[in-house]
Amino acid sequence: MIEFQNGIHVKGTGLWLDAKRRVDFCFVSHAHFDHAVKHAKILATPETAKLCQHRFGKAKFKTLEYNQPRELKKGIRVELFPSGHILGGAQILIEKRGVRMVYTGDFKLRKSLTAKKAEIKRCDILIMESTFGLPRYLFPPLKEIYARMVEFVEDAQAQGKTPIFLAYSLGKAQEAMKILSNRGFKLAVHGTIYNIAKIFEEFGVKFKNYQPYQAGKLEDRVLIIPPWAKRSRMVKNIPRKRVTILTGWAIHSDAKDYYGVDEAIPLSDHADFSELMEYVKKAGPQKIYTVHGFSEFSSYLKKEGFDAEQLKESTDISKSLW
Ligand SMILES: [Zn+2]
Repeated sequence: MIEFQNGIHVKGTGLWLDAKRRVDFCFVSHAHFDHAVKHAKILATPETAKLCQHRFGKAKFKTLEYNQPRELKKGIRVELFPSGHILGGAQILIEKRGVRMVYTGDFKLRKSLTAKKAEIKRCDILIMESTFGLPRYLFPPLKEIYARMVEFVEDAQAQGKTPIFLAYSLGKAQEAMKILSNRGFKLAVHGTIYNIAKIFEEFGVKFKNYQPYQAGKLEDRVLIIPPWAKRSRMVKNIPRKRVTILTGWAIHSDAKDYYGVDEAIPLSDHADFSELMEYVKKAGPQKIYTVHGFSEFSSYLKKEGFDAEQLKESTDISKSLW
C-alpha cells in the first residue's frame, strides 16, 4: 500500500508524500526545503503553493484548502488539514474503502501565532514525524518561552547591546516577529525573512513595527536573522550585540556552545515528546510508521501498546491494513 523510497509512495493513488526527489505527483506538506521539491505536479494548500513558488519559482499546483475533502480518483478521497507547523502546513488524510491513513508531515500541537492550530483525526494507519521522539525532549510552557525572549531583549538593551535572534527564515522568524512586536518591540529583519513575512501578510497574518535591516540603521530595534547570517559581515559589523537562537534543540545544556551564541531558547515548530504521545492517543491508529527523528520513538509507542515501527526503505509493508 505504501512504499518508502526518498519519500512515501501511496500505491494505487499515483500520489507521493513529501518525496525528496522529483516525481510526477506529490503532496508537499509545507514549504521547508527538506520537504518541498519542484515536482511535475504538487498537491498543497494555497499558502504552501505560494511559498513554494517564492522559493523555487513557478510550478504546477493542485491546491486544496483545509478540510475540503476531494475525490483524487475513483474510490480514493483526500483531505488536507492543519499541522500547526508553519503557515500553510498540512497533514493529509487518504481514505480508501473505509480505511483511513494520515500522514502528518512536520507538526506541533501547541499554539502558534502564525499557523492554524493542528487538528487530530481518527485513523487506522498513521505515518508521523518524530523529530523530538525521546522523553528528554519536553518543552517548557509557551508563556515561559515568551518571557525568556522578552527578558533577553530587555537585558541586552539595558547593557546598550543589540539583541539578535537567529530563527530560520520561513516560519520561526515570523513567529518571533509576532511574539516580539506584540510586546511593543520595534524590529529589523533580514531581507529573506522580510520577503516571506510579506507573503504571510497576503494570507492575513499581519506584523507590526518591522522593516528590512539596513546596515547602520538599527537604532533600538531587535534584529531577527536566519542562523546562516550570523557569520555575515552585516552582523560582524554590529559592535555591541547579544545573540540567541530559537530552536527546540535548546533543550540540550550545551546548545549555547554548539551554536556559538549567548543564549538558546527552546521555541520549536515541532511537537515535543508529550505532544507526539498525545497525538497518537487521540488518533487511535492500529498501525504507526514513524519517519524522521529518533528510531527509538517507535519502541516507546510499543510500550504504550501500539503497533509501531520506523519506516525504512526495507520496511515490509505488505501486511498493512490497506
Ligand atoms: Zn518543517
